Amino acid sequence: MNACVDLRSDTVTRPTAAMYEAMQRAPVGDDTYGEDPTVNALQARIAGMLGFEAAMFVSSGTQANLCAVLAHCGRGDEYIVGQMAHCYRWEAGGAAMFGGVQPQPLEHAEDGSLPLAAIAEAIKPDNEHFAVTRLLALENTLGGRCLPDAYLSAATVLARQHGLSTHLDGARLFNAATADAAASPKAAARRIAGHFDSVSVCFSKGLGAPVGSALCGSAAFIARARRVRKAAGGAMRQAGVLAAAALHALDHHVERLAEDHQLARLLYEGVCDRPGVRAQAPQTNIVFLDLVERGQDTARALQQHLQARGILVSMLYGQLRLVTHRDVDEAGVLRVLDALREFLRR
Ligand SMILES: *Cc1c(COP(=O)(O)O)cnc(C)c1O
Repeated sequence: MNACVDLRSDTVTRPTAAMYEAMQRAPVGDDTYGEDPTVNALQARIAGMLGFEAAMFVSSGTQANLCAVLAHCGRGDEYIVGQMAHCYRWEAGGAAMFGGVQPQPLEHAEDGSLPLAAIAEAIKPDNEHFAVTRLLALENTLGGRCLPDAYLSAATVLARQHGLSTHLDGARLFNAATADAAASPKAAARRIAGHFDSVSVCFSKGLGAPVGSALCGSAAFIARARRVRKAAGGAMRQAGVLAAAALHALDHHVERLAEDHQLARLLYEGVCDRPGVRAQAPQTNIVFLDLVERGQDTARALQQHLQARGILVSMLYGQLRLVTHRDVDEAGVLRVLDALREFLRR
């Protein structure tokens, strides 16, 4: 049996030998005193790359979003967010649990955006009956889909006109940027981030670092976010060993995200014409397969069929999710396609 092909998520990527070397070489200090040179270098690097004054290194994307929402909003305030957004649905209610911040979730349009009219309608007037609406939080990519630049511009302008702050959950910002054929990934990431007051980015997904995310914003915003991080128990010490992995990822793993996108495309093209399979062409590194026409339990049966052949995929909302990343190569994807076709022939 070959090694397992793990398509459950791009979080499963392992550090490369070169990344381990960078971690071992990293100069470190006590980051809670602001004295870890590698953390400081990473924070300056990502802030500069995305066009912000300051950045803060944190242990996870969830913590980056928590610090962002609590630095933008006070108790009893609310943030407008998508029903399927990570910082509403997938973060254990942290903003409410720790910050007393109320989400105002909105349904997504077909393309993953939040309709401008729905945002405008959800912003509460200044009236003692209502929570104060403080923040619009968007996500890019969302389920692997990219929000168009014109939409990001219009939505953030609308938010600003109503005095709201804006946050982007950019866990996969560099995947969104890679999908933008008009610019280099780093230039595109900067342009996308430029619409927002704050942006979070994950190093631990497609970028392949073992741990870590960054939150970027103004110096005053990051100072508030650092207090939240401290209260959440997230201030670290010799975190430079982790920051070194993130720096290595920014140097060596951004441009190669295009390969993940090509492999996702190969997966999609290999199965999209099979009877009973509904799939949308992937814009980045995530393929969803909807098998409802073949009956309720088909997705579960296919997941088990794949697992028996050493292939792991996720089940989300009754669909199979296949995520490509740097630890899966073309041979792995071809193996997955063989196993998928074998099942779908039935
Ligand atoms: C993965 C992810 C996060 C953060 O996840 P952690 O596991 O906490 O690092 C946040 N937002 C989105 C959109 C994500 O995909």
